[in-house]
Amino acid sequence: MTTRVAVIGGGVVGCTTAYWLAREGFAVSLLEREPELAAQASFANGGMLHASHGEPWNSPQVIRQLMRWIGREDSPLLLRPRRLPRLVGWGLGFLRNSSGARHRSAMLANTRLALYSLRLMSEIAADAALEFDAAQTGIAKIFWSPAQLDVAVRESDLLQELGVPYQRWTTETLLQHEPALAPNEDRLAGALYYPKDATGDAHLFTQRLADHCRTLGVEIRTNTRVAALSHTHGRVLGVETDQGPIAADAVVLASGPEAPELLRPLGVRLPIEPVKGYSVTLDNHALDTPLRLPLIDDFHKVVATPLGSRLRVAGTAEFTGLDRSITPARIQLLLRQLGILLPQQRAPLADLPRTEWACLRAMTPDGVPIIGRTPLENVWLNVGAGHMGWTFAAGMGRLLSDLIVGRKPALTPDDYLLHRPTL
Ligand SMILES: Cc1cc2nc3c(=O)[nH]c(=O)nc-3n(C[C@H](O)[C@H](O)[C@H](O)COP(=O)(O)OP(=O)(O)OC[C@H]3O[C@@H](n4cnc5c(N)ncnc54)[C@H](O)[C@@H]3O)c2cc1C
Repeated sequence: MTTRVAVIGGGVVGCTTAYWLAREGFAVSLLEREPELAAQASFANGGMLHASHGEPWNSPQVIRQLMRWIGREDSPLLLRPRRLPRLVGWGLGFLRNSSGARHRSAMLANTRLALYSLRLMSEIAADAALEFDAAQTGIAKIFWSPAQLDVAVRESDLLQELGVPYQRWTTETLLQHEPALAPNEDRLAGALYYPKDATGDAHLFTQRLADHCRTLGVEIRTNTRVAALSHTHGRVLGVETDQGPIAADAVVLASGPEAPELLRPLGVRLPIEPVKGYSVTLDNHALDTPLRLPLIDDFHKVVATPLGSRLRVAGTAEFTGLDRSITPARIQLLLRQLGILLPQQRAPLADLPRTEWACLRAMTPDGVPIIGRTPLENVWLNVGAGHMGWTFAAGMGRLLSDLIVGRKPALTPDDYLLHRPTL
């Protein structure tokens, strides 16, 4: 009899998981509470597919600044004071993992997963003939001070050993590739260019992959919210949804920051904290000088990504629980940061038509996703991708499907298991 797997969560990670499981011959149901797939974190993210950016957010430099950012609307990482009491356990883990050695080993685990994933992403895109505004232009990380650039060079040297090539660009070379930055010539210290990084629209990718999954026999059920896992004697029998019960031999949680809620009644603690981010999408050609190259401004913690004819500006992090509402001040912050990149822009950026969006990243205390089995024999996790879930998705789906099948994965899974020493 075919094994039935219920995958909870129709974001990019749930969809890639459904794809790999369907290719293994499982009978897969993909369950999504929203009316369409990729309506949450996978809807309007920064669009970057970047193995160069696996550094977790608890770097020793960020931790030093954290106290100064509490309650400040203009800080890139905002801790809302009302959230602080709820953050105690998770926050201690976040601090504990910020030591140089732990932070470095989490970065390496993320980079290995990203490289593995980007190879598989190309395989999926070719297999399913997916068009998703993808561009293989490479990504440039720009720097405003030589000291910041030197720190990033040391980190990139390390990543290069794993297979992430980079080039150090002078400001002059950067401006040849990205003339829109010309008015910043005297302020910029240079850039690091990662030629193998790419970009693409996660929402388009997920929707189109879902269409392909249907042809592989995946049952996709939107408007279906899973309320509970039905279980007996440490084994799950299926899920209870607002559309009725669904029986399953195995269940995968790919439900982002909401995953802990479904496991709590079964006595499983999942250390995941929601971290809100924002994006603004503009018509790139409405700018005086449209951007050509995807840019990361690490100092201001913002990315600017051309996606087809659009420009997506994304960033900021806000610890505010499961609240997805849009705070206008955070949108203004993103527009101000874009204004720093493009000071020559004549029409005020705030006057250009735009789409605003906010959503939650699911973040673990060590900044590495959780992929693998729970203490319950037939319940599996594919969650906690934080700021890198678009990059990780193809690899997370494949790694978990290999573990479910019982095959030795091409990527060693130990760094991503729920029961690892850093969680
Ligand atoms: C501002 C911002 C910028 C980002 N930029 C980048 C980037 O440039 N590159 C990159 O690699 N990553 C980026 N990320 C991260 C990336 O977007 C996420 O890690 C990724 O989308 C997570 O995918 P997911 O499928 O795990 O989660 P989601 O897309 O959130 O999917 C989870 C799904 O589960 C559903 N769900 C939850 N509970 C239930 C339930 N009980 N029943 C049924 N369905 C349920 C939700 O509705 C949701 O659709 C960014 C994130 C943000 C917020």
